Amino acid sequence: MAVPSITLNTGAQMPIVGFGLWKVSRDTCADQVYNAIKAGYRLLDGACIYENEAECGEGVARAIKDGLVKREDLFIVSKLWNNFHDADKVAPITKRQLTDWKIDYFDLFLMHFPVSLEYIDPAEQYPPPDGPEFPAGTASVQETWQAMEKLVDAGLAKAIGISNFNGGLLLDLLRYARVKPATLQIEHHPYLTQEVLVQYAQGQGIAVTAYSSFGPSSYIELDAEDAKSAPVLLDHAVVVEIARKYGRTPAQVLLRWATQRGVAVIPKSGNAERLVQNLASTDFELDGGDIRAISGLNRNLRFNDPMKFGEPHPVFY
Ligand code: NAD
Repeated sequence: MAVPSITLNTGAQMPIVGFGLWKVSRDTCADQVYNAIKAGYRLLDGACIYENEAECGEGVARAIKDGLVKREDLFIVSKLWNNFHDADKVAPITKRQLTDWKIDYFDLFLMHFPVSLEYIDPAEQYPPPDGPEFPAGTASVQETWQAMEKLVDAGLAKAIGISNFNGGLLLDLLRYARVKPATLQIEHHPYLTQEVLVQYAQGQGIAVTAYSSFGPSSYIELDAEDAKSAPVLLDHAVVVEIARKYGRTPAQVLLRWATQRGVAVIPKSGNAERLVQNLASTDFELDGGDIRAISGLNRNLRFNDPMKFGEPHPVFY
């Protein structure tokens, strides 16, 4: 199955549909990564804080050993966690993450959040727990970004990017960036369309990747109240009706609504049928009216907000 790609500002090709690795449990992770590659996925979206990078690496190593792919066929993404923002901590933790993945470069390495927290020595605890317990760190976004630029110089990352940035931070970063961010990864679904930010980033040559493309579904799993009280997007009458019209599933329509507007997606599923379905979501075209109807569902409803999880970081306010 040929998946279209986006040409990044580095010249590299990034598949427009990838496989997300958040909440993939350690015991099934290696198999899920292997199965995703076998199903045709080439982009894997991981992170230190997902606590499964060593198992991701096992899945990748097995897929390469079995001849399913070569390393250069894959586009492996990982992210720098908040406890490692100090300039002298960035390269060592990236090397540690590469070791876990059993590879020697990332295709793309993202600053996960524009939030610096106090350093945690990986020899004592790794990965650090995700929660409100850490005091703020001292690194500015500029310090961290400039350390990430050196990852590119050293060949540890082919490209670097950002995640969970708003327009103001991005504007500022572009003033000093020697290496321009290749991508911006943000929460993006019909309840949170972020059109101004998407258009600004794309206009600057920064590719946008959507996370949580199905909106509340990912956060219902986390028992989040606002997700439980929002209408399920996959069951929304507007989405279901459009899916029926094209003979597709609601999930495929939500993914296509993003990719048709040039936004990459990284859905995750442990279910073999959905895994294939999500990848096979680029071979039909929604008409303009349908795109507008889906965009019209916007209610600026953000689920992945640190403040809602008790972390005192007002990143989006
Ligand atoms: P998701 O897109 O993986 O969707 C989550 C839910 O949808 C899961 O319950 C899944 O089982 C279900 N689902 C998947 N395919 C389906 C289908 N075809 N039909 C019906 N249900 C389906 O949401 P997510 O995990 O929030 O986001 C995807 C990826 O984005 C993550 O795995 C991670 O890699 C990345 N992410 C990044 C950040 C960040 O801060 N940068 C935050 C959240 C997620």
